[in-house]
Amino acid sequence: MTKQIKREKIWEDFSNYESGKESDGGRYGFWTIRKWYENEYGERFYIDFQKTTACLSFCEICGSFQNTRVVPIMDDEGDIVDYVEACDRHLKGDESINYRRLAVFE
Ligand SMILES: [Zn+2]
Repeated sequence: MTKQIKREKIWEDFSNYESGKESDGGRYGFWTIRKWYENEYGERFYIDFQKTTACLSFCEICGSFQNTRVVPIMDDEGDIVDYVEACDRHLKGDESINYRRLAVFE
């Protein structure tokens, strides 16, 4: 069982942001959330999630506007670590993503 132990904003860019156009008008804000996890073996790792104010389909892994699906991030035991909105580049037809493809270990 992997649990989330911390989350922090590590980057943001609101230089193009404009209120009233921030959801579908082309003037969006962007930021990155880094979530830290610890698995049952005491290993710590993080996964970065790309975020936007846009209400458009947006890949949280590569940070681009693409057709996406929300899929579970799975650990080696088949337990769900978290969920991510991902484009097909990362999914390749799969319905989930193994966490080792996204995780950065300390
Ligand atoms: Zn992507």
